[in-house]
Amino acid sequence: YWTTGPRLNPEQMTVHLPSPGNHTTRVKAGFVVLVRNSELNEMIQSMNDVEHRFNKNFNYPWLFLNEEPFTEEFKERTTIATSGKTYYGFVDESMWSYPTWINQTQAAEAREIMKGLPYGSSESYRHMCRFQSGFFWRHPLFLELNWEYYWRVEPSVRYYCDLDYDPFLYMKENNKKYAFTISFVENSGTVPSLWHTVRNFVTATMKSKQNYFDRPLKDTIYRFITDYVAKDYTQCHFWTNFEIARSDLWRSDAYQSFFTYLDMTGGFFYERWGDAPIHSLFAAMYLHKDEFHYFHDIGYKHSFYQHCPESETLHDQCYCDPGKTLDYGDPMSCLSRYMNALMPDEHDKDITIGE
Ligand code: GDP
Ligand code: MN
Repeated sequence: YWTTGPRLNPEQMTVHLPSPGNHTTRVKAGFVVLVRNSELNEMIQSMNDVEHRFNKNFNYPWLFLNEEPFTEEFKERTTIATSGKTYYGFVDESMWSYPTWINQTQAAEAREIMKGLPYGSSESYRHMCRFQSGFFWRHPLFLELNWEYYWRVEPSVRYYCDLDYDPFLYMKENNKKYAFTISFVENSGTVPSLWHTVRNFVTATMKSKQNYFDRPLKDTIYRFITDYVAKDYTQCHFWTNFEIARSDLWRSDAYQSFFTYLDMTGGFFYERWGDAPIHSLFAAMYLHKDEFHYFHDIGYKHSFYQHCPESETLHDQCYCDPGKTLDYGDPMSCLSRYMNALMPDEHDKDITIGE
């Protein structure tokens, strides 16, 4: 069922930039960062990019979260680094600890078994992924700020392109609910039972008549995450280290019960489920195709991988090498699968993800 190369996609080849210059209308929105004190220099570097390429003209606020109190130095230097307001939130044990139902001996054994995988032996990484999946959007300070949209940033990321329009406003005006720049293939060893668990959840909600996923699959991007018969997981997901989304996407009953169900199985600790596949799986089943947005005009780098716009119209405003872009040339990229999933397909059937 899998297609190989990208199909011609006129939408992708032509860049429709939102009209520049609407610098007055503000969305209730801001940047959210989970970060450690030890990552201060890397954080300043990310902020410098975000501020220079975009935020110096828009002054959106920053929210920093940490399961340890931020140092005075961290607060001072990050406050100076932005044109917007800064907020600092403490993540307490209700959002960063083992739930009562987790067998911690079994969790420790799992870390030992998975030590050959990226972060396979890390305990903190698992708490981090669980927090990013199920909690940041209901952190008390996040709730208080009441942002309609958020933009997630991490230390040590690069932003390469000048942005003369407001991505938040673009999303709001175009009814977009989830946006990405990089789509990627997950290391299947970190999520062996995730797909099975997701299908079980969908099946259970269908049986209970509480069907959260009643949108016809052909209107979703289901072919990004699975095949025409919804049998196997493609391992495709959107990287969450860059993520712009509506906060209420995660506050929906559907997502809250989805997260609770996944959390009860213990997969965050007995395996090493990432927040990226979890966000993506949900959004792919829940949202309409048209509610996604690929910010192809945002040049972005995280770790070894980057998206650098290939459109000639963007070359004057981007400071990166399009030859290094991951998009269609790298087997780790899922972009062609996303592009295919957006288009109607003659093989689309009237099927469901559950059984
Ligand atoms: P990767 O992107 O999957 O390689 O993981 P990272 O190490 O970049 O972590 C993802 C995000 O969570 C980054 O913003 C980190 O700063 C943050 N993070 C990871 N682990 C911890 C932690 O133990 N405490 C805090 N406060 N932040 C963390
Ligand atoms: Mn990272």
